[in-house]
Amino acid sequence: MKGNMLVISGPSGSGKSSLMNEMIKRVDNIYFSISTTTRLKREGEIEGVNYHYISKDEFENDIEKGFFLEWAKVHDSYYGTSLKLISKALQNNKLVIFDIDVQGYKIIKKKFGNDISSVFLTTQNRTELKFRLTKRGTDSKKTVEKRINNALVEMAKIEEYDYLLVNENFEKTLEKLISIAISSKCKVHSFDIKEFMGMWTS
Ligand code: 5GP
Repeated sequence: MKGNMLVISGPSGSGKSSLMNEMIKRVDNIYFSISTTTRLKREGEIEGVNYHYISKDEFENDIEKGFFLEWAKVHDSYYGTSLKLISKALQNNKLVIFDIDVQGYKIIKKKFGNDISSVFLTTQNRTELKFRLTKRGTDSKKTVEKRINNALVEMAKIEEYDYLLVNENFEKTLEKLISIAISSKCKVHSFDIKEFMGMWTS
């Protein structure tokens, strides 16, 4: 079997991190891609768990060195996925989960096509997103406004994704996300069919 990939995108505050943290506990053989970013660490975040935090200069150097599978500028900070870590996880037949924005998804979709399943996660409406971002209390009023405006840009790309999840109820959304993760492991593209046929006929 080859490893395969599941991308989850959606506005900040829609609940991606909480859902993924739970999903990782309940689905086997998953590798969560830890991105590298230049944004400041939020309270409670841990280096190497939530992100790898580096400076803008270091990030730009890493871009030059071809360190990233994809990278993008989101809300004025850089975010990127390390090529080396992903290749290793795929070689180990893992389902690799990416929490990346719509720009990053476009890049890896172009590179990997059908090996990728994708989910767009959002809230029921803009008011709910604003409520959650404000309640989270990790961003200034100005940053919250920026994230909401960015959400509108991201929402315009929903149709490029395979699945849409509207996160009204955590448990129900989690159940759907887990089902998607499990079924993405069964995609024909995630198997080495030649090898499978060889074994099947021998
Ligand atoms: P946050 O600052 O809220 O953690 O993340 C902001 C946005 O950056 C989210 O939409 C998230 O999906 C996106 N993001 C996080 N890591 C990456 C990455 O490695 N590449 C890309 N393209 N986007 C990322």
